[in-house]
Amino acid sequence: MNKAKILIVEDDAAISNLISTTLETQEYQHHVAKTGVAALLEAASYSPDVMILDLGLPDMDGVEIIRKVRGWSNMPIIIVSARSEDSDKVGALDAGADDYLTKPFSVEELLARLRVALRRVRYDSQRLKEESSIYVNGELKIDYAAGCVYVGEREVHLTPIEYKLLCLLAKNTGKVLTHNYILKEVWGNALASDTPSLRVFMATLRKKIEPVPSEPKYIQTHIGVGYRMLRV
Ligand code: CA
Repeated sequence: MNKAKILIVEDDAAISNLISTTLETQEYQHHVAKTGVAALLEAASYSPDVMILDLGLPDMDGVEIIRKVRGWSNMPIIIVSARSEDSDKVGALDAGADDYLTKPFSVEELLARLRVALRRVRYDSQRLKEESSIYVNGELKIDYAAGCVYVGEREVHLTPIEYKLLCLLAKNTGKVLTHNYILKEVWGNALASDTPSLRVFMATLRKKIEPVPSEPKYIQTHIGVGYRMLRV
């Protein structure tokens, strides 16, 4: 039984019904908000575990909702939008969304994304409890205190930039990070012209941590958007 609470923010009744019905088959609890104002109220009063958010709402842009919610909550936000341009995805992710789906979407895919988001919630709360200075994901292990990285028993030697990059992705496991966000966090600036060098560092990092660098299992590429650390 899934006890997770999902807030659906969608003004199109056909789509919100489709999402509600899908969530009911998996026994998720859910509420629906049809406007931005209702979404902000529900986000505070219903305290959902995950928000599924449409960007085109009658009274407010979805990106504004993301910014407002991020002011006080770290809950995963999955965008479900008809806007399919990379710039729209990047804008929503930079504002603090975790993931995006473009309409029309498959319900199986929505459920898969939801599971990723819920794993992040569980992982975050577990991490808070343990206050652990060790990150473990499959064979990959980061000892933050010692600054060491292991794959299985083998210690992996990373450059300072590769290490910062890996820690940033690990800290945000399950969440799509945009090129801009990564550049800003790792290099302290965000010039789109630096994206090729990010790609180079990512390639060398993958060579060191991925069993098959051409088929990465830890770090997923979102072409034109960014990268995501998957929980394996
Ligand atoms: Ca809409």
